[in-house]
Amino acid sequence: MRIVLLGAPGSGKGTQSQRLVQRFGIPQISTGDLLRSAVARGTPLGLAAKDAMQAGKLVDDSIVLGMIRERLADADAAKGYILDGFPRNIAQAEALDVMLKQVGKPLTAVVQMEVPYAELTRRIAGRRSCQGCGRVFNIYSMPVGAPLVCPSCAGNPALFQRPDDNEATVVERLKVYESQTRPLLKYYARQGLLQSIDAQGDIDSITALLVYVLGTQVAAPKRKAKSKKARTRPKARPKAKAKAKAKARPKPKRRPVRAKLVRKKTPARKKKAARKK
Ligand code: AMP
Repeated sequence: MRIVLLGAPGSGKGTQSQRLVQRFGIPQISTGDLLRSAVARGTPLGLAAKDAMQAGKLVDDSIVLGMIRERLADADAAKGYILDGFPRNIAQAEALDVMLKQVGKPLTAVVQMEVPYAELTRRIAGRRSCQGCGRVFNIYSMPVGAPLVCPSCAGNPALFQRPDDNEATVVERLKVYESQTRPLLKYYARQGLLQSIDAQGDIDSITALLVYVLGTQVAAPKRKAKSKKARTRPKARPKAKAKAKAKARPKPKRRPVRAKLVRKKTPARKKKAARKK
């Protein structure tokens, strides 16, 4: 499975990717996570990406593509992966296609997670993450009064809000999604890869829908490729086809002519014939 999850910020790509990791045993590759880690470590790549991220803009294609190329070459990606947050524009999608063509392993599915604008902003405002394990939580789906800590990590570290999840940056990120990422829907629809799901509501139901959609996509029967000759030969018109068929059919044998019955001329018959005249 080589999957792309498409969707605006807050559509649940990260949360659902983490669940698909459990389900299918393939890694989640999030360019956002890779970039945040580079920023936190203060690498040259992180320093180059930091300003664009803080402003809610896209990081330069050359940086992101270099990172993805390296990550896809890792051993765990050989059996498949879930791309989360990549590609984010047509240039990235085209570069990815070229990369995958070179290794003969094209994408198997692209799923768009649809969520209305109002719900996106609410989800982003409530999003909290664990710095240790990267798990994403939402205060609106947690029990009221629950402590905002990670239940999975040792010492239950406090959850944090991403610096780019503030209101001003979110508006910019949604704008960027509309202008640069949304065109990818047509791009992948043309390749026959795109499926869309309604990603509102209960998290478990969305996972189930996603798994179902991915199952149908992977199991969809492949069309038999036509030979070059068959593709170029014009279709015979039905009338001409019927004529050709009739010509090819063996002609039916003529029925043997029956011997004519010659009636003997008796005197009575001779008289009858003379009366008729
Ligand atoms: P995300 O965690 O996917 O919402 O990404 C957070 C930020 O990282 C984005 O707002 C961008 O600034 C940057 N980013 C993540 N993925 C990409 C990408 N594929 N291309 C360019 N910038 C990206």
